[in-house]
Amino acid sequence: MKIVIGSIQCEGNTLTPVLTRYDDFDKAFGNDMLERIHVVDMLEDRNAVIVPTLYAHALPGGPVNKKDFLKLVKQLVNSIPESGIDGVWLYLHGAMYVDEIESGDAFILKKIRDKVGYDVPISVGMDFHANNSDEVFKLANVICGFRTAPHIDRIETEKRAMRLLFECIDNHILPRPQFARANVCIPGDAVLTSEQPLKDIMKAAEEMEKLPGMMCVQVFNGQPWVDTPYMGPNMVVTHQDNDVLAKKCADELARMYYDRRHDFKFLIEAVEPEAAISLAEKQEFGPVFISDSGDNTTAGAAGDNAFLLNLLIESGFDHLLLAGIMDKKAVDACYEADMGSELDLSVGGSLDSNSEKARIHGKLIHIGDILSYTGGNAGRSATLDCGNITVVLTENRAAITSEEIFKSINLDYSLYKVIVVKLGYLFPGLEKIARKSILAFTPGSSTERLQDMNMKNIRRPMYPLDDNFIN
Ligand SMILES: [Zn+2]
Repeated sequence: MKIVIGSIQCEGNTLTPVLTRYDDFDKAFGNDMLERIHVVDMLEDRNAVIVPTLYAHALPGGPVNKKDFLKLVKQLVNSIPESGIDGVWLYLHGAMYVDEIESGDAFILKKIRDKVGYDVPISVGMDFHANNSDEVFKLANVICGFRTAPHIDRIETEKRAMRLLFECIDNHILPRPQFARANVCIPGDAVLTSEQPLKDIMKAAEEMEKLPGMMCVQVFNGQPWVDTPYMGPNMVVTHQDNDVLAKKCADELARMYYDRRHDFKFLIEAVEPEAAISLAEKQEFGPVFISDSGDNTTAGAAGDNAFLLNLLIESGFDHLLLAGIMDKKAVDACYEADMGSELDLSVGGSLDSNSEKARIHGKLIHIGDILSYTGGNAGRSATLDCGNITVVLTENRAAITSEEIFKSINLDYSLYKVIVVKLGYLFPGLEKIARKSILAFTPGSSTERLQDMNMKNIRRPMYPLDDNFIN
């Protein structure tokens, strides 16, 4: 048995003008990619011949540059032999958006089909926030995805995709995934799999998956920051041979999503930015985390908006920490200065022209590399003590999601009453240290409110822009 494996992932955001480039992808070619994925043992158990191609992962960001994307796809497809393939396993995000191309995931699948033909099964594992275009369902034989948000089941998902590929090969079947869409746009931060109404929907999917011959019943919430007609929740059901039953199950799940649309709620306090700051200040004990949700780098925003920083400065409150803001030029200036020196800097607005700038004056208290939220190195950072507020600057787009990241820059977060982070819901690593968590409805390319997104290409009617229509 000869199995091709490959992965190109980037969660897209069409609201940010900052393109994702070739160098933004962390890449592993050929055998090096085996260390990045979690299905090698399954292939070895079956004595399969592995054909590794390319593993490429970029942090969530703006549309991928077309030329750079084509280069990646070429690198992947060129590694696939012309013939003798029994199956293709892919791990994709499902919400990759490519400049001029739109769905990067559909494009990858089409290029692979052009090479291997339509008689070879292709099984794909994806993120829970996959926005699948109609094309994807015609090109893949099985599509499965994460079943947790926040995500803790990537490995399981990769393995499920491989198990389902084996099922196709062993039974000589080429299933066709059936799908249904729910015309609701619920920001990811209000869609947690352990909470209602999603808990019930996930349970219903789990029950359907027990039906005889059913291969996979998958709920995808989609990702709201992609301005395309196929944005949003998509239910994907794959049965060995009963497409009618599969379609019925997908429709039923989409119906549930629509019927329960009013039950999706933010689990943490979600308020206007000014209210978030005064609410945080009123708490007796810190740290209180405020999420700058409109500039959430983990949702693809630039992370360079000083909007909330300006509000914090104006507030005059004490023991504030801005963790952090992206500004390469400001970081460069800090690296050229002596430790302990006073600096006057303009920060923010260097990547996204819609981002605000802020003027800060402070003492340089630390420089050094900062840990990335995916475990690697996010590049250089600098910390300035500006009196009532401490500001962390990063040369790259970064997100502070855990104690370890604070430690990597020698920052004692426990000294602060209010900490602002460029996130939506807190990652589990911050959740455990936060005395309280508040989500601020800040402006930006990861805004939480569909009415603020100025979408032009999404399908209508769409809740919450429209309500009480027939889904
Ligand atoms: Zn996701």
